[in-house]
Amino acid sequence: MSRASRLAVLVTCGVAGALVFASWQDIGIADLQNFGTPRNSLIEGEGEVTIPLPDGPAQRRSAVIVPDTTGSYDFLFQTPGEGPVRYDPCRPISWVLAPGGMPSGAVPLLHAAVDRVASATGMEFVYEGTTSEPADFERNLIQPQYGEGFAPVIVGWATEDQNPDLADSVTGVGGSSAVNGAYGDQRYLHSGVIVLDSEDMIRLIDSRGGEELAQAIVMHEWGHVLGLAHVSDPEELMNASNSSVTEWGPGDLEGLAIAGSGPCEDV
Ligand SMILES: [Zn+2]
Repeated sequence: MSRASRLAVLVTCGVAGALVFASWQDIGIADLQNFGTPRNSLIEGEGEVTIPLPDGPAQRRSAVIVPDTTGSYDFLFQTPGEGPVRYDPCRPISWVLAPGGMPSGAVPLLHAAVDRVASATGMEFVYEGTTSEPADFERNLIQPQYGEGFAPVIVGWATEDQNPDLADSVTGVGGSSAVNGAYGDQRYLHSGVIVLDSEDMIRLIDSRGGEELAQAIVMHEWGHVLGLAHVSDPEELMNASNSSVTEWGPGDLEGLAIAGSGPCEDV
């Protein structure tokens, strides 16, 4: 019996992300080193918010990953002439967990999935614990509870009734927002969201051999958070439907290495 029929689970994925257009704001005293360059801001909630300066030096956290495989990959956001929109590899990607509705036993596979994404991208990930914020794509990108920078990636759970995006066989949705840096036109990904279907994931985790596939779903959603789009090749984990792939495919690995080798924001 093949794994696909044994699991008898077809996993599909919705994808979501946002493109946030920056506007210009007056120059403040913190902007002297960029004197003459207007600081970017974004409209959020009830007003205009200055885009945060990046924290720490513009130095990579770990070595660039050189993939030894090639295959299908695609990116959700591309800037003509500049390539895909990516996270800044010189700053760690912080993430928080919204634990409401989480299946028991899911925490280890969440962390294992992040480890797999870190290895494939050469990016550093920092788990900042649980949050009371709900995992929702309508979230503000900058929230006082997380300090002055962009909000961390949030990973959470919902039922199909709570989140219609998870209807039918959709087991997760994931994505990040593409936002201008503090200055200039270069865009970066920030404040990703992953929402996992708690009912589908409980069924999957409880099925024989299903934990591997459940972890692969979380890896897939992190792929979206890192900027990867779906591909049609069924051998890749970034295919929209999956009933058997539990490892990164050759194109996934190539795409994730590119996702982890974007420009650093240097202000
Ligand atoms: Zn997907």
